[in-house]
Order: sequence, then structure tokens, then C-alpha cells
Amino acid sequence: MEIRYLLLLCAVAGAVQAGKHDQYSGHQVFGIKFRNASDSELLHRLEGLLELDTWQHGVLEQRDAMVMVPPGKREAFLKALDDEGVQHYVQMDDVAEALKKHDDEISAWKRARRTRMIFQDYWRYDQIDAYLERIASQYPDLVTLVNAGKSYEGRDIKYLKISTTKFNDPSKPIYFMDAMIHAREWVTTPVALYSIYRLVENLRSQDQDLLRDIDWIIMPLVNPDGYEFTHTDTRLWRKTRSVLPVHETCLGVDANRNFDVLFGTTGVSENPCALTYPGTHAFSEPETGYVRDILQEHLNRIQLYMNIHSHGNWVLFGYGDHSLPPNAAQLHHVGAAMGAAMDAMKLPQAGYYLVGNSASLLYGTSGSAQDYAQVIGVPFSYTLELPGYGFGFLVPPQFIDQINEETWQGIAVTARLARSYYRARYNANN
Ligand code: ZN
Repeated sequence: MEIRYLLLLCAVAGAVQAGKHDQYSGHQVFGIKFRNASDSELLHRLEGLLELDTWQHGVLEQRDAMVMVPPGKREAFLKALDDEGVQHYVQMDDVAEALKKHDDEISAWKRARRTRMIFQDYWRYDQIDAYLERIASQYPDLVTLVNAGKSYEGRDIKYLKISTTKFNDPSKPIYFMDAMIHAREWVTTPVALYSIYRLVENLRSQDQDLLRDIDWIIMPLVNPDGYEFTHTDTRLWRKTRSVLPVHETCLGVDANRNFDVLFGTTGVSENPCALTYPGTHAFSEPETGYVRDILQEHLNRIQLYMNIHSHGNWVLFGYGDHSLPPNAAQLHHVGAAMGAAMDAMKLPQAGYYLVGNSASLLYGTSGSAQDYAQVIGVPFSYTLELPGYGFGFLVPPQFIDQINEETWQGIAVTARLARSYYRARYNANN
């Protein structure tokens, strides 16, 4: 009786799982090669017109664009490209199949590794939350847990303050990093968690100075509602999960267009259903408000802000409207040192990091976390796009260790450079 009941349960669970990614059935991801700027403009127009999901922005002669196209839009999309002779190819034949494979890889990963650290898998919100709680209670002299407040759906958004001096020494700079502002970018949270691990649980002799000289704020899950939704329902969800006053069925805003800087001007869609809908007003989302509050509370000491995304191998800085902050040379210096450190450890199949102004290298944006931190006075503010290895957002879990390790090296380099810039400023003023 019990066994039969169990089998029935398994069958039901299996049936639910089998259809989990049906919404992406027949969706394809196309790679597109640019010959010139007008190819790139054509693709940009098509993305807007056909409401396509851009997986990767292309760069002339360096990087192919990757765009997800639903079956109903494929004909119009390919005709427009072919009419102009733009070269394209199928990167992912069926996104639903790719998602299923991704799930299977993750399951196999879990089975093969009975002990997986918190930064070695795509853990759920509850497990990550429990880890933050455990670290704080285990290392009370070093770690302070802060509950910033509730997400739209009521999850606590927590972050750690890591300091040998309880954040009381003004001669130390603060390094603030956050991850998972975009829900589908799963590999970002392991990087934040690994940073906690390396600073608190596994501080190595060569990194003693990073803990001694710098205070850290690490928020591993900016958008937990979106993240949980990618696990339970829609793997490629990007936005928050708030109910919009302007639309009955479409939910959420692009949190990385929701900050109060040039709000709603470039790189956004007015369509509430679009991936880059910025919201009705700046900081409409509680989640972005918490990031703002941290930046404002510690503004005189936050020397570097790292807003972590996936994917594409970019280290980007402001501004999204093509203008440059006055310390652009320093921003480039620290960003380039980070890219070089990560490139030194990269896998052969990964691209080299490209470093520069986000609008010049990629596309114009407004309301980004990167620009907000920069414009209010954080000296070094970056968007980091981790490697995707051609898998887009579906980075197989066997790459997590690699990404964690190489990114940690990049973070360490930026922390030390930021420290020296901070000391110069601090000594001049005190
Ligand atoms: Zn992102």
C-alpha cells in the first residue's frame, strides 16, 4: 500500500517535471554575426519589434549576438536577417530541451557529489538564508547579519557585514558586492557565497590583508522572489515579481533599470511585459531600495561596488548614456586589472574579458545599479558579467568552481587597488 502510494507520488511529480519547460518548447537561440554597425542596429530593432529575448549582445568582429526567438516569430526574424544578408546560425535548437538537459545535469551533479558546499551548487533561497545565519552565529566577532527587509513576496533579504573592527574604523574602505539582481543569472550567487567563504571560513595566508584592511558587505540574493520563481516555474525569468499597477497579467520590473539615475530614458521598454520594463518610477521595488539604502548608509566609505551578472565576460562601468565619470581612467585601471587577473585563469573555451564603458561596449542603459552607485559618489562602480561558455544563462554546475575561483582572484585584485586609492584620499583628508 505504502509503496503503491509512493509510486503514485513519483508519477505525479514526474509528470509535473516533464512539462516544466513546455513554455519554451520550439524556442530557438540564434547566433548572429555582425559585419558592421547597421547589422547591429537591425538586430536591435528586431529585438524591440518582435519582443525577442537577448541572451548576449554582439560586438563587431569579436562576439556574436545570441537571441532567443519563439516559434511564432521565427519566420519574420529570419526573413528580416536574410533580406539584409546578415549571417546567422542556430546556437540552441530547442530551449525546452536545453533546459531539461540543464536540469538533468544538475541532478547528476547532486547525485555524484553528496557533499556540496553552499557555493558549489544552485541552492535554493532557504539553504542560502540558513548559511548566512550560520556564518553569522559561528563567527560573531567577524560577521554581522543584517536583515534589510522583505522582498515583494515577503522573503527576508539579508546581507553580511564582514569586518575585523566591527565597521568602526573609518580608515578602512568598504567593498560592497551583490548578486542575483537578475533572477535567471544563477551562477552569480555562488560567487558571492564563495567570497564569504574565502573571507570568513577559509582565509588563506595570501589574503590576510583583504580582511585586515577592508570591510565587506555581501548580499548574495538581491531578488529572491525572481530567483525562486526561476526554480519553480519559469527558468528564464529576469525581473522582480511585483504586481504592476499598470498591467493585469504581466508582473515585475527589471530591477537593474529601477534605480534613480536617468530613470526610464535609454535601454528600457515602456511595455510592462518586456524584459527591460523599468517600473512606474525609480525604486518602485523594495529590493532595489535595500541596495540604495546600503549605498547611502556607507557612502563615505564604500570605495567599490560590484554588481554581479551572468553572462558574457565583461567588466563594465558608467555611464549608461555614453558619458564618462571624471575618474574614468582609474575606473578603467581597476577594471582592466580585474579582467586580466580573471583571464589569467580562464578556460580555453571562455572569451577574454572586455573592459570599458557599458554604453560604448554594449548598449545604452538607464536606471542601472552601476550608474546609481557611481553618480551618488562611489568611486569605483562596476557591472561584472561572468563567463557563460556558450550556455547562456544555463551554466552547467561543473563550471561553478572555476568561475568562483577565477572571479575571486579578480575581486582580490580590485580590492587591493581600491584600498590604495582609498588610502590616498583618506590620508589627504585626515
Ligand atoms: Zn544581468
